[in-house]
Amino acid sequence: QAKAAGGGTYRFFTPDMNARISERVTLENSLRQALHDNQIHVHYQPQVDMAEGRLIGFEALVRWHHPVQGEIPPTRFIPIAEESNLINQIGSRVLHEACRQNRAWQDMGLPPVVIAVNLSAVQLRQPELAGHIAAVLADTGLDARWLELEITESAFVRDTERIVEVLQELRGLGIKLSVDDFGTGYSSLGYLKRLPFDRIKIDQSFVRDLPDNGDDIAIVRAIIGIAGSLQKEVIAEGVEQPQQIDFLLAQGCRLMQGYHFGRPADGVQAEVLLRRLGDGGRIPD
Ligand code: C2E
Ligand code: MG
Ligand code: MG
Ligand code: MG
Repeated sequence: QAKAAGGGTYRFFTPDMNARISERVTLENSLRQALHDNQIHVHYQPQVDMAEGRLIGFEALVRWHHPVQGEIPPTRFIPIAEESNLINQIGSRVLHEACRQNRAWQDMGLPPVVIAVNLSAVQLRQPELAGHIAAVLADTGLDARWLELEITESAFVRDTERIVEVLQELRGLGIKLSVDDFGTGYSSLGYLKRLPFDRIKIDQSFVRDLPDNGDDIAIVRAIIGIAGSLQKEVIAEGVEQPQQIDFLLAQGCRLMQGYHFGRPADGVQAEVLLRRLGDGGRIPD
């Protein structure tokens, strides 16, 4: 609304836009400070195989504890971090901490699990990404097979050729790759054929209303079918209810993640879970 604002001046931004821009700048500066002051932490959410009642791994999720504002959710600061390239630093911090933690659990003799780390589309465009990740693995002493990278489907819309190369490099290191938020990214199914993925994560929006919503039933069945035909693993996100577990198992989806099994929790709490389940404990339905 670049309209004459009286007095012969022009307003390029509405007050609302101004407010949003300044919130953005403030948040970006606080985020810089947060990295410096170690306000960035990692929480871990269990991933389970419900056919065997076994814990198979954890997803690492970034947490920002602001000294005044308290917890700021990643959905609020990740987009800003992506625009300012701070995401490379944050991503690298989370990756290092998750790998260090996983190796520490292995050193304690706990059963080995895969740690899944989210990778932003911006990180995928870093020219040295694979080399950087290899260096983190070497530095923390974690074997590549215990690391998985989750990449959200919308990341493949642009620069697909380049992304295929990066993913092949990562896979060459022995890292597992999964497509996050599957079904929400407005991208074509063709990429599933061309990109070297091990696993598809069914977005929680399709899981939420199972098993009551007919559309969700159809979509989830179709995703499980595609994954099976392409010989990829499939995991359902956002599982909160026992009826959802029953439905997913009946459809042949045995891998699950959601509040029913555990909310994201700090390393100490995740370790308690790993200790309990590693001791032959089965996850109750
Ligand atoms: P995501 O990767 O799809 O992660 C799953 C999100 O769903 C997490 O939210 C998790 O806490 C939440 N969740 C898990 N189970 C349930 C459930 O049963 N019900 C409901 N309602 N929610 C559940 P969170 O931690 O707020 O993260 C949101 C998003 O922020 C993530 O979605 C991911 O896209 C992004 N994110 C988080 N950590 C990182 C990171 O380290 N790097 C990057 N690039 N993105 C991250
Ligand atoms: Mg994820
Ligand atoms: Mg997801
Ligand atoms: Mg998501």
